[in-house]
Amino acid sequence: MRLDKYLADVGLGSRKEVKVFIKKGNVQVNGEVVKSDKFQVKEKVDIITFEGEKLTYQKYFYYLLNKPQGVISATQDNYDETVLDLFSDEAYREDLFPVGRLDKDTEGFLLITNDGVLSHQLLSPKKHVEKEYYACVSGIMTQEDVELFEKGLIISGEEQTLPAQLTIVSVDKEKQTSEIQLILHEGKFHQVKRMVAAVGKEVTYLKRVRMGNLPLPKDIELGHYRQLSEEELEKLK
Ligand code: URA
Repeated sequence: MRLDKYLADVGLGSRKEVKVFIKKGNVQVNGEVVKSDKFQVKEKVDIITFEGEKLTYQKYFYYLLNKPQGVISATQDNYDETVLDLFSDEAYREDLFPVGRLDKDTEGFLLITNDGVLSHQLLSPKKHVEKEYYACVSGIMTQEDVELFEKGLIISGEEQTLPAQLTIVSVDKEKQTSEIQLILHEGKFHQVKRMVAAVGKEVTYLKRVRMGNLPLPKDIELGHYRQLSEEELEKLK
């Protein structure tokens, strides 16, 4: 691949920015300064350094963010803080984006990547990738609700959902509240909140705890993120 593409892929800057570094003589390939941006490199074989520091080729980045409340699932916004605003300068790249959306007041599992193919696979309605949520509800969830969710519900009076697996974790009759776990196979707008509303109750807290076969890792604290390991990534694919 071209040297400028390699440098842009590893996150050194845009194609335009890295061309400047190359022209200035900041880049070496196998110990020799290379000043041509068209120079062909073998990303797995050649040793490429920038200002003396060895670069490691990585094209795709997979971060798992334990999303806190109050930030929006977007790359940029004029009013609200976005999930990418939580990233440090070292981790941030312009091509990162969140895979799907969690509401501003929803917490939990949010994949942030620059891999459009994986994103498509995870979000495609045809693939039915499971998403598991934990929610606190105002109102008493019942066995009848479990059956209604299993059949698929009409939400907002018009949209039919696929069957979803509802588990009632606990019920507090005095406080008239419930805790639930819900597994969805699609991702309609505000789907958990609208399904719960369709049976006459209200979600008061929502957290996504799993996507595909990958549960939210316990070591990622709320508001924190880290790159996924190879094994974790395999569980998502
Ligand atoms: N369902 C919702 O209602 N909100 C979310 O953020 C995710 C799923």
